Amino acid sequence: METLVKNKFEFHNNVLNFSNKVFYYIESFSSLKIDALGKYDAIILDARDIEFARIILKKFRSHSNIEFYLKPIFLINSKSNEDPLLKELIDGIIVSFDQIPETINDINQINLKTAQLESSTSNSFEIQLFKKVLNFMFTRETNTFTPHTDINSAMGYCYPTVSVNFETFEEVKVLELLEWAEKENLIWPDFFDRVYLCNNCKGGHLSYREICPHCDSANMRSEDLVHHFPCGYIGAISDFKNNVDTVLNCPKCTKNLRHIGVDYDKPSIINHCQNCNEVFQDYLVKAKCTHCKTDSDVQFLLSKNINVYKLTKKGRTAAVGGISASDFTLSDEVFGTVNLKTFATMMHYEQERIKNNTLLNANVVIIYIENIFDLYRKIGKSKERELLAEFVNIVRDNITPADFICINNPSVLSVCINDAPLANAELMVSKISNKLKELVANNFDGFELNILTQTEILSKEQSFDKQLHHLIKDIVEKG
Ligand SMILES: [Zn+2]
Ligand SMILES: [Zn+2]
Ligand SMILES: [Zn+2]
Repeated sequence: METLVKNKFEFHNNVLNFSNKVFYYIESFSSLKIDALGKYDAIILDARDIEFARIILKKFRSHSNIEFYLKPIFLINSKSNEDPLLKELIDGIIVSFDQIPETINDINQINLKTAQLESSTSNSFEIQLFKKVLNFMFTRETNTFTPHTDINSAMGYCYPTVSVNFETFEEVKVLELLEWAEKENLIWPDFFDRVYLCNNCKGGHLSYREICPHCDSANMRSEDLVHHFPCGYIGAISDFKNNVDTVLNCPKCTKNLRHIGVDYDKPSIINHCQNCNEVFQDYLVKAKCTHCKTDSDVQFLLSKNINVYKLTKKGRTAAVGGISASDFTLSDEVFGTVNLKTFATMMHYEQERIKNNTLLNANVVIIYIENIFDLYRKIGKSKERELLAEFVNIVRDNITPADFICINNPSVLSVCINDAPLANAELMVSKISNKLKELVANNFDGFELNILTQTEILSKEQSFDKQLHHLIKDIVEKG
């Protein structure tokens, strides 16, 4: 740090205050933990070590919390590199701390845009993730998803704003998300390229070989086939060669071959397998996946279009207006729950019940699982229903039979707890929250659920819809 002391812009313990902004400087090879950095206005990231910078940047941009994934990040000591993430997901490059004043305008612009974003809970994994991507694009004023060739991507291409949210070797999920967004009319495709992926693991690191159709060996030699017109003999060119000179002699009639096209021709190529000794004209082409080792005929590879996508009008307005999609229907299928409409009706009657009797009361509980979609991203969306059913079982075990549960969407459960003092209800909820975390941690490799809960006495004055709306809004914005 000695050289930095001479500068006007000096970081103390990696922190610098300038123009009402607090900057945090992440040095190369420092801690990979970013949890404590949410509170800073901007990050100056040392890119001396490209791999380190890439990991840190990925941690920020893949985070589920807006405080992290929209954080203004500037690189310093950046060598020229071709890494698409380091190019597209940063907010600028500075050559020295003296250029910090030049970042202020960008930071203000991002903050201004961030304040306009709509925030609500999402009905699905796709909506949650795509909304996040749209938020980033809106605050960075871009409209286009451009594919970049990427050596770190299992399919050879990445779309940085989307790909950053997926693990290596899961990039094909990026294409699936984009296909979903296209179906929802959020983006519009323009053909750019095509890739071929392993039909087993969907990886794109494939090794192509020409192989023998009899024994699958790639150990084969090809040579010209020669047709001698005068005698009609057809054979491999090696049959016409001798060890003494370059003259070709016909093995059948022993004449010298003179001019191609006049007395002989090379009608095609013949292949000779060095492994099984077979001779054949057409070889097969197989592609071996370097990831899962599946070796398949190229005709059976999975082909996917790589498109340049542009946001449609619907897509451009979705960052501030939200993504409207069909209602969440899974709640009807999970035993022991009611859907939102029924829940609202029941709560209305509940209000009527408690209005005229001061001995009765009811509590509304919101259980918000902030990072549930991160879990689905890990374990697959197909587990959603099963897991929600488990969650409902846990809730059910810790409330009384007269209470009822609603799955608002995969990240929000609402519960009505009847005739219990608020403090008791809160205790029940904290127990539920702990058990949910325990269930997930035990079954999914220590995954930590972030659960926020809010318990309130059911209002006797306000309509239930309003109370629920405020409760969810508060809790989501707190997260
Ligand atoms: Zn594979
Ligand atoms: Zn062979
Ligand atoms: Zn001949």
